[in-house]
Amino acid sequence: MKERKIILPEKDLPRKWYNIQADMPNPMQPPLHPGTKQPAGPDDLAPLFPMALIEQEVSRERWIDIPEEVLDIYSLWRPSPLYRAYNLEKALGTPAKIYYKQEGVSPAGSHKPNTAVAQAYYNKKEGVNKLTTETGAGQWGCSLALACNYFDMECRVYMVKVSYHQKPYRRSLMEVWGADVYASPTDLTQSGRDALAENPDSNGSLGLAISEAVEDAAGKSDTNYALGSVLNHVMLHQTVIGLECIEQFKLINEYPDYVIGCCGGGSNFAGISFPFLHDKIRKDKPVRAIGVEPLACPTLTKGAFTYDFGDVAGFTPLLMMYTLGHNFMPPGIHAGGLRYHGESPLVSQLHKDGLIEARAYGQEGVFEAALTFARTEGILPAPETAHAIKGAIEVALECKEAGEEKTILFNLSGHGHFDLTAYDDYLAGKIRDVEYPQDEIDKSIASLESIR
Ligand SMILES: *Cc1c(COP(=O)(O)O)cnc(C)c1O
Repeated sequence: MKERKIILPEKDLPRKWYNIQADMPNPMQPPLHPGTKQPAGPDDLAPLFPMALIEQEVSRERWIDIPEEVLDIYSLWRPSPLYRAYNLEKALGTPAKIYYKQEGVSPAGSHKPNTAVAQAYYNKKEGVNKLTTETGAGQWGCSLALACNYFDMECRVYMVKVSYHQKPYRRSLMEVWGADVYASPTDLTQSGRDALAENPDSNGSLGLAISEAVEDAAGKSDTNYALGSVLNHVMLHQTVIGLECIEQFKLINEYPDYVIGCCGGGSNFAGISFPFLHDKIRKDKPVRAIGVEPLACPTLTKGAFTYDFGDVAGFTPLLMMYTLGHNFMPPGIHAGGLRYHGESPLVSQLHKDGLIEARAYGQEGVFEAALTFARTEGILPAPETAHAIKGAIEVALECKEAGEEKTILFNLSGHGHFDLTAYDDYLAGKIRDVEYPQDEIDKSIASLESIR
């Protein structure tokens, strides 16, 4: 029998997260206060985040202890299995070996609980009993609802109105875990009331939902805000994924030549790749890390490396990152989690410095890759995840072309059981490639001049 599943014993769950800020050849540029444009300090973030997370945000310590309480919850689904995709390899006829890390086994179905649990824990420890957040497709809202439920905290989720109606089962799942879910815009916040006054039938947007969640948390001492991607502490928590992979590869005497993840705000890609980049930077390992994004939202491949706001309203600090401009409105593709205008500042700086690569693919090829995967390995991937699969398949086919027996690892960031409408559309031939026009990108980026 072939060894398909590489299981790490529970006792070997990593005890520390890896902080890549300790090893970057060029440090990141600091975030700037949105008003003064001066470097933002801990005091600027304190109304929204607990001190422990603010410290992690700026820390240069290489290894940061994972608290026992967090490890205890991680162990419900971690270490997650690493699989060898024999069936996929065979279908492609590639000499390459393809491995995938299965993050879809968490209760919420994605990698996002790795940070949600840590964020809930640190807030609770500092006396905060209530978290607010926004959610688009619902993956992050579910993960935070799950985490708050473990720590007996309240969770309020502002869900973009159009998704609230289109994805009712994600909302149900959040409510099962005890969260209060509101269709944004609401009349609970000034930003929401303003939006409703302007247009009572507003469908909402992620930017507006962020504004509502931030406003809600900023005004109350017992309430904080939580973000599911982009920020440094989120990337840090996700490194548990890659650290496990390194141990799993040791068990089978393997090491990847390629590490691939899809890129929205960058957290699952950072999670799987940063521990390997540690080996690349410090031990000269020739591993290539590739972030895969949609052609419809090509942040790393076509964006500019510059300061921009994290949200549409301009409430957040200015972050130095690859961005398409905070006013960029990506087309409505099915991989909702990859429609963010910016990119993690850590991932961005590493891309700027040539330590990682990026590729972009259209929706049609991505869904075709998802079906190939579902029909060979059996797992239905989230549409976001399908971008990583498309990337892995392309690399495997390049290996076939070159006759190279390379080892490929990709992150299976989540399952697609709540995305069947998208699969229905694909099977009905209704999914088309949408590429964002270059002149629109140029216009959006040019508009950033004025904020500097
Ligand atoms: C949210 C999400 C993503 C995109 O977010 P990142 O921060 O880039 O990882 C990718 N895959 C799944 C399954 C998600 O839920």
